[in-house]
Amino acid sequence: MPPAAPARLRVTGLFFRGARVATFVALGCLLFPHLRGAETQLSGQTYLPLSDVAARYGMKLGWGESDKTMQLQNSYCTIECTVNERSLRLNGQPMALGFPIIDRGGMFYLAKLDFDYNLFPLLSPGQIPGVPSLHRIIIDPGHGGDDPGTQNAALQTNEKTNTLDTGLRLAEELRKRGYEVILTRTSDVTFDRKKRPIFANNSKGDLYLSIHFNETDVNSVSGVETWILTPPWEPSSTQPKFVDADKNVLPGNRFDLWNTLIGFSVERTVTKELGAENRGVKRARYDVLVPLNMPGLLVECGFLSNPTEGRLILTPDYRQKIALALADGIDLYKTTLDKLRPHTPAPPPSPTTPPRHPEMINEISLPRSVAP
Ligand SMILES: [Zn+2]
Repeated sequence: MPPAAPARLRVTGLFFRGARVATFVALGCLLFPHLRGAETQLSGQTYLPLSDVAARYGMKLGWGESDKTMQLQNSYCTIECTVNERSLRLNGQPMALGFPIIDRGGMFYLAKLDFDYNLFPLLSPGQIPGVPSLHRIIIDPGHGGDDPGTQNAALQTNEKTNTLDTGLRLAEELRKRGYEVILTRTSDVTFDRKKRPIFANNSKGDLYLSIHFNETDVNSVSGVETWILTPPWEPSSTQPKFVDADKNVLPGNRFDLWNTLIGFSVERTVTKELGAENRGVKRARYDVLVPLNMPGLLVECGFLSNPTEGRLILTPDYRQKIALALADGIDLYKTTLDKLRPHTPAPPPSPTTPPRHPEMINEISLPRSVAP
């Protein structure tokens, strides 16, 4: 079911790189040396000038399509920030922000909290402490039993049926790939959504993934969006602005930086493989995410209310495609974790142990980014 009214988000493609290089105005951060390190209080928040972010990552800073958009770019990453918008785009993928981008005197500013929780984990994953393990995955097919979720009378379908089938397919695929999988439900039963993350905690999962399908009054809206827990001191994507309760630190907030990594990986992979609109990574304090003792996410895999996407979701082939794409997104996250995890020293070679291939030295290099 829809967590919120659809946000206005432009999609220009997942791999935005080079398309606008010809028009890229390479101002460079040298134009703004006086702003480096210049944290500023704006609208009650600590903000960073984009020149600061650009300098930190050796990125060129320039204008985008208009004077409303600034673009940061290096060889592996393009970030677009549009003034007054509560989202940015990283390699074309929308990432919801807690606070709007602000223009002051021709320089754009990003809230420091938004940098910390959105850009930092993606641009500096090697600096996140405590790499989590990833073996036991809790799959939660949303709704069930007395709670049908979203319903589409014209297509004679509901959400709970499609989440269960997709969840079972995903579980089978993940088991094939060597993961241990526990499902919150394997049949059409009622299961209080507040108890599902508790079940996940008691099952000692390493990752929690809740599967849903979306709806909205506007039938033309389609696509996939991924929801992760809102960090403390930030308003959710469902809220117009900050309220006092947002200051609370919730159990699931221990995994905020990993949530960004898994959210980005899954949203990017699923939209790419399905060819679906990328509606981005968004934030909410959903019941299923708040109490988690592990990284977690809720994926709205498509709109049942869209006649075209709804019919697709009704086909077993498409649900299988969704399951494979979710599994690939989890695999991408696991690959990143494996690269970040400190390697245990290899045992001394014995006469029966073949020598390590010289290429194995590459294992010790940390990825600069999960972005390609
Ligand atoms: Zn739902």
